Amino acid sequence: MADTRSPIEQRRILNTAIPGPRSLALNARRTAAVSAGVSAQLPAFIERAQGSVLLDADGNQLIDLGSGIAVTGVGHSHPKVSAAIAAQAYDFVHTCVMVTPYEEYLAVCEELNHLTPGSFEKRSMLVNSGAEAVENAVKIARLATGRQAIIVFENAYHGRTNLTMALTAKNNPYKDHFGPFAPEIYRVPMSYPYRDGLSGAEAAARAISQIEILVGASNVAAVLIEPIQGEGGFIVPAEGFLTAMTTWCSDHGALFIADEVQSGFCRTGQWFASEHEEIAPDIITTAKGIAAGMPIAGVTGRAEIMNAVHPGGVGGTYGGNPVACAAALATINVMRDENLNAKALVIEEVLTTRLAKLGIDLECVGDVRGRGAMVAVELVKPGDSKEPDAALAKAIVASCAEQGVVVLSTGTFGNVLRFLPALTIEENLLSEGLDVVEEAVRTLGA
Ligand SMILES: *Cc1c(COP(=O)(O)O)cnc(C)c1O
Repeated sequence: MADTRSPIEQRRILNTAIPGPRSLALNARRTAAVSAGVSAQLPAFIERAQGSVLLDADGNQLIDLGSGIAVTGVGHSHPKVSAAIAAQAYDFVHTCVMVTPYEEYLAVCEELNHLTPGSFEKRSMLVNSGAEAVENAVKIARLATGRQAIIVFENAYHGRTNLTMALTAKNNPYKDHFGPFAPEIYRVPMSYPYRDGLSGAEAAARAISQIEILVGASNVAAVLIEPIQGEGGFIVPAEGFLTAMTTWCSDHGALFIADEVQSGFCRTGQWFASEHEEIAPDIITTAKGIAAGMPIAGVTGRAEIMNAVHPGGVGGTYGGNPVACAAALATINVMRDENLNAKALVIEEVLTTRLAKLGIDLECVGDVRGRGAMVAVELVKPGDSKEPDAALAKAIVASCAEQGVVVLSTGTFGNVLRFLPALTIEENLLSEGLDVVEEAVRTLGA
């Protein structure tokens, strides 16, 4: 079941304008068939993808610095992952694990229990998406503690279902006119070193004081946080912030839930971003990077918490689908075999060095931050105001797209360029992609 076609060369090729004529024709069909609510940042239609290169319908080869939002960490169509998917598809595709189980599901749970931080006994369950993982984490935390309040943070992103919309901070586009929202969710300030200038301890004290005054410690089922905020702008909390929050949780009988949907699976140079602060969350949610693009997500937590749920209390028709599980197992093995945590750190060095240099030359580069292959530049207007410059981020993304480089923007203010290359990206391809980005930032941000 190996792919006998010639591999896609890991280089950029501009064959037509991007998007080219075939993509434009497909885009017209898209407009006529697909809900306008489903947007496309760059309507170049992809026909094949390998490694860090996307081949579009017009024969253009794009350098992918976004990995489908931190999903294809092992690169597109990694041969070992594709082979595992194909083999499982021939064995069987579905039984529903709640009807008749299969080994692949428990093997993924074993990997999650083993790889996530915390030396205590754990249990896992599998679902289909990051939002579904977060929903289940909240359900389980409420049931296990007998409490209702969930604490979330400014700039948080946890998904687009009804419950996770309520957990997510930003109104437009995620929440606008989609309410009413789920109750018993309370938002407190996040540690955002570039904008608040607080130490981790100070930022934690600020958040904790609000929790205690506005919610009451004994009502809190869980504090839910992304150890590095993703859609919020790759915000890395000041050192000590996460530790202080975990300590507060354990002192007050609340659970600490780390949403590692974006930051997990070698993305930050550790299996999980929580490890940088040596915290062991009570529950961890995972998705994006886990299976190189197959839809699967996990909830992993302390055994006594995960086992508090009555049989049948959680689950779903497709959760932990065998093909997705086979992809996850193959992906995790690639991460181990190719030592992708070490590769993420090499990428961090390349990205931060280049972007920091850009920051010295240009006033629009307000902040360069992140860990591993999860690095961002926050763009601001000239002067000391730190006023976000979303228009500049948008223009840079568009200019890179025209040049065949896919780079994503993000952030509460829409003013952050984020880099999420595959951990397997070849260094010369990364450099070429960054040349294009750098040129765009220098031209548009001068
Ligand atoms: C993407 C994301 C989600 C939602 O995942 P979906 O698979 O899109 O539902 C939740 N939390 C975080 C931190 C994310 O980055």
